[in-house]
Amino acid sequence: MYEFIPKRAFFEKDALEYPTGKNIYLKMQELGVDTQIIGTHNRVTGIPGKTPQEAYFEAKRTLVVSVRRTLDFETCKPSAHYQLPLVTSCPGECEYCYLNTTLSKKPYIRVYVNIDEILKKAKDYMEKRAPEVTLFEGSATSDPLPVEIYTGFLKKTIEFFANQELGYFRFVTKFSNVDPLLEAKHNKKITVRFSINSETIIKQFEHKTPSLDERINAALKLAEKDYKIGFMIGPIIYYPAWEYEYDKMLSKLAESLKGYKDTLEFELITHRFTVKAKKNILQVFPKTKLPLEEKERVFKFGQFGYGKYLYPAEVMEELKNFFQEKIREYFPAYNILYFV
Ligand code: SF4
Repeated sequence: MYEFIPKRAFFEKDALEYPTGKNIYLKMQELGVDTQIIGTHNRVTGIPGKTPQEAYFEAKRTLVVSVRRTLDFETCKPSAHYQLPLVTSCPGECEYCYLNTTLSKKPYIRVYVNIDEILKKAKDYMEKRAPEVTLFEGSATSDPLPVEIYTGFLKKTIEFFANQELGYFRFVTKFSNVDPLLEAKHNKKITVRFSINSETIIKQFEHKTPSLDERINAALKLAEKDYKIGFMIGPIIYYPAWEYEYDKMLSKLAESLKGYKDTLEFELITHRFTVKAKKNILQVFPKTKLPLEEKERVFKFGQFGYGKYLYPAEVMEELKNFFQEKIREYFPAYNILYFV
């Protein structure tokens, strides 16, 4: 069973005035984690890191417990209307992490203990959009599941949305410690998506995360409890054994979740990178085997002024046809939300 135990934990002084802050503090002491109380500002010093590599790996073992001061939520197109800020970063060390370019060089894990205020704000957003429904995304800046054992935030958020007429909540994870969520009352208002890849890709690039089997088992446990389940397949990588291995992954998924095949949703994302992401990846993982050769890609300007290197059109077409065909074969309801 996956369990994240940080090497050090920093607590903002104010955070200890909240029950969750106090509980996490006691738990860290019980586990023998090096704990420190810091001022109520946003800067965290005290994480070692003379090189980008050291900074990254030390930060990934650091928990920061704070109070969220900005209660304005960012928008979250296209997957939801708003981000729900519960956690930032995660203890996983995926070489192609989608947060590579948005978090600092020290991507420590930050949790916000004023969950009641955050959920109250979510309610305000829902009321403003009424009678339209509002969709909230819990993993825009993190994978919130690894710290659930300390925070209980996902369970609390799930039970909050279960009672909201005009709100839905979704999050995506690569982790498997779903047991605390099994007894939550969710009223089918929640979608949990598991980010998966072929076994080879997970082993090679998604360090410190659970295996494909563990993720599938976690999905099954939640499906058995009537949660809506989705799979985010990505980044899809075009490598020598891709057809065989992605087929194996999909057939395993279909076999394991055979009772729920018609209800699953799929999001398909091919591998891409920006100049900045490549630079960051090479600093932290200088020996990476990720395909980061610009000459094998096509460059496309993104909507925010920076460009991305995508697979060329013929490769995209091949990947798209393959996944469409296989998903149609294994999952008759064929619910692909998008392929990019
Ligand atoms: S699990 Fe998700 S958030 Fe965590 S390092 Fe991997 S890609 Fe990033």
